[in-house]
Amino acid sequence: MGFLTEGKPLPWEQAKKYADHIRNHGINQFLSIYNKTKDRDKDYLLWGDEIEYMVIAYDDESKNAKLSLRISDILHKLQKEVEETVKNGEVAEISWHPEFAAYMIEGIPGIPYGNTLKSLLRVEQNMKLRRATASKHLNQNESIITLSNFPRFGCSDQFLEPHHEPFGPKLKSAFLPDEVLNPHIKHQTVNDGLRSRRGTDVTVNIPIFHDKKSPNLFPECEKALPDHIYLDSISQNLFPECEKALPDHIYLDSIVFGGGCCCLQVTIQACNIREARKLYDQLAVLGPIMLALTASTPIWRGHLSEMDCRWFVLSKCADERTKEERGLEPLKNDRFVINRSRCDTIAYYISLDKTLKSEYNDSNSVYDRNIYQKLIDNGVDEILARHVSYLFIRDPLIVYEDSLYQDDESSSHHFENIQSTNWQTVRFKPPPLNSNIGWRIEFRCMEVQITDFENAAFVIFMILLTRIILSYDLNFYIPISKVDENMANAYKRDALNTEKFWFRRNIFANYDGVEDEFEKMTINEIVNGKSNEFPGLINIIFQYLESMNIDIETRNHLEKYLEFIGMRASGKIQTAATWIRNFVRSHPNYKHDSIVSQEINYDLIKMVEEIQKGQIKAPELLSDFKIQ
Ligand code: ADP
Ligand code: MG
Ligand code: MG
Ligand code: MG
Ligand code: MG
Ligand code: MG
Repeated sequence: MGFLTEGKPLPWEQAKKYADHIRNHGINQFLSIYNKTKDRDKDYLLWGDEIEYMVIAYDDESKNAKLSLRISDILHKLQKEVEETVKNGEVAEISWHPEFAAYMIEGIPGIPYGNTLKSLLRVEQNMKLRRATASKHLNQNESIITLSNFPRFGCSDQFLEPHHEPFGPKLKSAFLPDEVLNPHIKHQTVNDGLRSRRGTDVTVNIPIFHDKKSPNLFPECEKALPDHIYLDSISQNLFPECEKALPDHIYLDSIVFGGGCCCLQVTIQACNIREARKLYDQLAVLGPIMLALTASTPIWRGHLSEMDCRWFVLSKCADERTKEERGLEPLKNDRFVINRSRCDTIAYYISLDKTLKSEYNDSNSVYDRNIYQKLIDNGVDEILARHVSYLFIRDPLIVYEDSLYQDDESSSHHFENIQSTNWQTVRFKPPPLNSNIGWRIEFRCMEVQITDFENAAFVIFMILLTRIILSYDLNFYIPISKVDENMANAYKRDALNTEKFWFRRNIFANYDGVEDEFEKMTINEIVNGKSNEFPGLINIIFQYLESMNIDIETRNHLEKYLEFIGMRASGKIQTAATWIRNFVRSHPNYKHDSIVSQEINYDLIKMVEEIQKGQIKAPELLSDFKIQ
């Protein structure tokens, strides 16, 4: 996150008093950046990915795979190594960052990739290097893996190394000990801000996947299966403010269930603000599609679920709206009724393209009229002003006492404070002050994949999509309400093969026949095309590559990744979610009762590691594509 990490954060009760102060100065800071950089032009395409990893500690004797809480130690060593490299005048190829949970680490390329097609081929190599580098600092029994979430996260037996008990004062979770949260004060304060602001505990209910022998779920089982209670009566007695757990659902009670998930992100620099605004909109439409294509989260707290993606949980966990803001009580202390979570699809499109019709912006999300007016009065156009004043309906979650007062011309911390805690599917990033970095777009919703080949393929696919959007002036616009509808379908079990998604029938022209501008298509149709009716995104990319002057080797290599994406989209190979679900359901010790036992989890994690290392083939997942 781009805001301060040093200093002394105020406790929530005091911090919230400064919300208007931070917002006012945040807007001044935005205006200052905007005025300095709105005319920047001809910035190169630069881009980079972000991968979040988790570290596993095996206990082979008891056949248990746990999350290792040794991350701060490992991170320290990795960052030291980077420091040494830089000191020696060399370029560090990787940059490492802490994350929300104490078992997570984020790795990004040390410097962003450049604007040649050949540079795309560096991404998988760099991802490999990240694993190899991190592995040097692991214990014998540890390994670094990329899974969206840990299947037995929050189960009542040992899932952490070292073990800690739940019911801590910070998370107040019946399932997770406080020690799962990154001990850095920034993460602790954000967690605290989210909880305190909301006023009630996080409650997430995920529909359980009913298998052949799943017990009639589930209150009756509470005593018989203390490990797998869905409704935690202990928790509800201790924390009466938490909302009801639903029957037949997997119940989660802490922000870390969402914040502790790992993801795959891509950031792209545009040549100017106009292009960045265009990309923001077009990628926002692709969010739900890419989520369903990368689905990899079928298990929650040791149970198979009806969901395949983390996004629903993430969105619920970051939802710090008060009851008034959620429209459950009349407005008294708060200012707005807000119709979306802080972590959600975008609320407003922002481009200046004539293809953006005003009726597409139909989210009806509230925005701060005073801030809007101030932005307009200072030369920002209405469309961008609405976006920024929507982001700024939120309170800062973390306020540092020692940096409350800053020069708005030379600091952007208050702006970044609000900006970087709006966790939308896409983020529009202004240039940092005093840097040579341009306007960027961050695509944030993809699920991390088991292998680097897959992760690289999705990153490359996204970059190539931005190239065809710009080269062919593609138009993916559908109303925001339809993006929302797509999102609500995207995380359902096997959405890739069973759901249809709103998409434009003609992505080249600006159709005026409003009635049939959009239709529902399968992801296969969207990606691979539909006879004469729809060309398919991959085919447009192939056409683009054909028009570019690239060497055969690069081209063949890129085509491998694209071929893989095409197969994934067609359902010929499985998503990680389906693969994991099938692994569990065909495990000899699975009792067809929806429960992912410690032993199944152990075998699953081992298998994931072996696939990632290329030691075992998983043709259902990878066909015969080779790990580089
Ligand atoms: P955040 O966590 O706020 O999203 P990070 O710094 O972790 O930000 O990640 C930023 C990503 O942007 C990395 O992949 C990095 O390589 C990439 N990046 C850095 N500089 C640029 C740039 N000028 N243009 C595009 N991408 C960039
Ligand atoms: Mg970050
Ligand atoms: Mg990051
Ligand atoms: Mg991250
Ligand atoms: Mg709780
Ligand atoms: Mg990021």
